[in-house]
Amino acid sequence: MNISKIPSFVHIYGKGSVKNLNLDILASNIRDRLPGTGIDIREDIFSYLLSFTHEEEKRREIVDSLASRLAGIRVLDPAKKGLNPDPIYGEIDYERRKILNHSSSSIGVFYDGFELERILYSIIPGEEQNLNHLHMIFTNQLFATWDEDDQRYHTRVAIYGYPSVISITGIVEAPAKPKEYYLAKQFYGRDQLSLTRIKKGIRGRFIEYNDERMTGVMKGYMMQSIFYHLKGSPFCGDSSCRLFNAHWQEEVIKAQLGGEYEYCEAHRRIFEEIKSK
Ligand SMILES: [Zn+2]
Repeated sequence: MNISKIPSFVHIYGKGSVKNLNLDILASNIRDRLPGTGIDIREDIFSYLLSFTHEEEKRREIVDSLASRLAGIRVLDPAKKGLNPDPIYGEIDYERRKILNHSSSSIGVFYDGFELERILYSIIPGEEQNLNHLHMIFTNQLFATWDEDDQRYHTRVAIYGYPSVISITGIVEAPAKPKEYYLAKQFYGRDQLSLTRIKKGIRGRFIEYNDERMTGVMKGYMMQSIFYHLKGSPFCGDSSCRLFNAHWQEEVIKAQLGGEYEYCEAHRRIFEEIKSK
């Protein structure tokens, strides 16, 4: 493999904003796998950006510009490819408040994932916009990507690229829950009591908000973003390997928490190779 792609630095964003995720554990996991790489944990990327600017007016300008760009990439209708090119004041103001209160998440609002990645790339400090630096952004926000085949947006857990963005709400919303869940939803409709009972019956078979397994699950997504950087392909075909591209919650749980091993033999060999360099 091309070892020149091993990043010298990994920057993890999300401290203080992604509350149910232990970023220290994730960082030490990377340290074990990439021993020569420097790792730091940063606040959410917007706070990090603002930390360089002390002048009040300049800060306001940055926040205003970011807010209107973010409002513009909202997916208003999952069945329509067009986004929100002329956001209204309320939408921009909502984004502004969210940038300033970084721990809030936006239930019901989601962005085009690739457009979001483009905005995040533009605010990475210039001297770190190169392959020596891997930027891994954990967020509460939901994002989706357009699927040409069925002509609609689908929510996603992660977008791997430069930077990689991983959503801790996406892990709850994007992979499909067990079939019983959807059947019950269809059958009981708005009968919340029955729905809650069914949900209780299949508890554990899907990831929930504030799930105590979140850090364990995210280890694999973090490593997928590293493999994207190292080899251009984040995924593995082995359903027990943490790099498996899971579409169902039960596949997530098997790959991240339930397998006999963390990584398949082929991927374990790559880790050994990296360590021996
Ligand atoms: Zn594998």
